[in-house]
Amino acid sequence: MLLSLTACAEKSASTNLFAMDTYMSLTAYGSNAQTALTDASRRINELERMLSRTVAQSDVSKLNESRRAAVSDETATLLGDALQYAAKTDGAFDVTIAPIVNAWGITSDTPRVPDSDEIAALLTHVGSSHVHLDGNAVTLDEGCAIDLGGIAKGYASDCVASIFADYGITSGCVSLGGNVYVCGNKPDGDKWLVAIQDPQGDDYAAMVALSDAFAVTSGGYQRYFTAEDGTVYQHIIDPKTGYPVQSDLLSVTVIADNGTMADAYSTALYVMGERGAIDFWRANADRFDVVMITTDGRLLYTPNLQDQITEPEGTTYDFQVIDR
Ligand code: AMP
Ligand code: MG
Repeated sequence: MLLSLTACAEKSASTNLFAMDTYMSLTAYGSNAQTALTDASRRINELERMLSRTVAQSDVSKLNESRRAAVSDETATLLGDALQYAAKTDGAFDVTIAPIVNAWGITSDTPRVPDSDEIAALLTHVGSSHVHLDGNAVTLDEGCAIDLGGIAKGYASDCVASIFADYGITSGCVSLGGNVYVCGNKPDGDKWLVAIQDPQGDDYAAMVALSDAFAVTSGGYQRYFTAEDGTVYQHIIDPKTGYPVQSDLLSVTVIADNGTMADAYSTALYVMGERGAIDFWRANADRFDVVMITTDGRLLYTPNLQDQITEPEGTTYDFQVIDR
């Protein structure tokens, strides 16, 4: 009896860590589970030391301070990818938004509301044309800076996925803040159930059954500050205006087979708003799926997800499929 039980039970390991300014949890199944998680945690910490703009000696900090730096191959590649996502999203996702992010300080201890002249002046330093990449040598134009906060966790989830593959892990789930990666199926063979948080409550708004996928959520509800006059300013900036996005969306979840892309696109689609996001999905429908929650109470999802999405009992959201 005991023997057969042991034979059935998969070996598993779990770990929690705080990195990249967020709580992370990782679970893996299989004989290498513990070593895979130790390696994955080490890798995430290493990426934070390299990519964070709040870690003094990171590639990004060196670059932002001196506007010229020799960065690691990895930073150079990720920065190159980020520039491509900026081009693909017509600048809705733009890592050169950093000077504006700094001015608002929404995720810092000292957030404030910059005046419109300050924003207009800083906006002249935003845009991919200010970044010059030549192998590992990166140069930024004067007044410019970069912030990989909209893509780094997605990239980290890709790195975890490749570590899982190296160790032969065929079942696992990872949550790096709003960035989820599910490896294979659950040990019982069913798909993983990924919960999409209700931006207006503590519960979840929908469940999506997934295997071997990345699901990345962006939303104003995740980080914001309330000014003295009661105005709420959330952390995602519209690079066209320099102001926090005033979206008709509460959250966007992008589901894809690439975590870096899903992270860039979830931020971008939140900036675009419902119409722009739907148009962008239609033009790229083979690349990703999406779930969007609108301010007027609709929960929109792409047709591929029809058999994978479940509504919680008593939901107040109106679930609707997006037309192709
Ligand atoms: P995410 O949670 O992935 O949507 O990323 C949001 C974070 O990315 C913010 O906290 C900023 O650090 C940064 N960010 C804000 N607006 C943008 C933008 N339009 N494009 C790229 N990064 C942004
Ligand atoms: Mg993002």
